[in-house]
Amino acid sequence: MAGVVRDWRVELVKAYPDLFHPLPDSPGVAQASPECGEGWRDLLERACARIRAAVQADGGSFKATQIKEKYATLRFYWEGALSPKADAQVDEIIDLAEARSACTCEVCGEEGRLYQSGCWMMTRCALHAEGRAVVIEPSFENVQVKERIVGERREIICRRYDRETDSFIVIDAGSLGIEEE
Ligand SMILES: [Zn+2]
Repeated sequence: MAGVVRDWRVELVKAYPDLFHPLPDSPGVAQASPECGEGWRDLLERACARIRAAVQADGGSFKATQIKEKYATLRFYWEGALSPKADAQVDEIIDLAEARSACTCEVCGEEGRLYQSGCWMMTRCALHAEGRAVVIEPSFENVQVKERIVGERREIICRRYDRETDSFIVIDAGSLGIEEE
């Protein structure tokens, strides 16, 4: 089916064969053909362009292995061999894309938020929403908490995603009541 229906997923795989490594006999189909709505097309295109630049500058290898929606946000998995620097760059690019998916309607690409319908979670604008808006404490809105091991030490990084500038703003973990060890 996917090989016959020409849609944005096919276009994306065709535009980035160096990242998707599509099947030789169907250039628009890859293991990681996105399993999400078209509203996230823009953020995926942006992520792919950035990853390509990082991988090309590095000279290492990269293959997207799965791109899907899970619990209302994007998941982007990959395998490959990159230098630690490029590896960190790619991680950051994917973090940005995943953070953007959490505030972008998966249907239309407009600004969105978390909704829940039964046990189904989704990121939607008001127009495409189903169910009820999930209440998020304002201080936790668009906040990403990440753990990082630096030497022997466990570090917790808290960042707020700013949709306007498509960037993270580091915030104090203490202000969220998250304790560092
Ligand atoms: Zn929408």
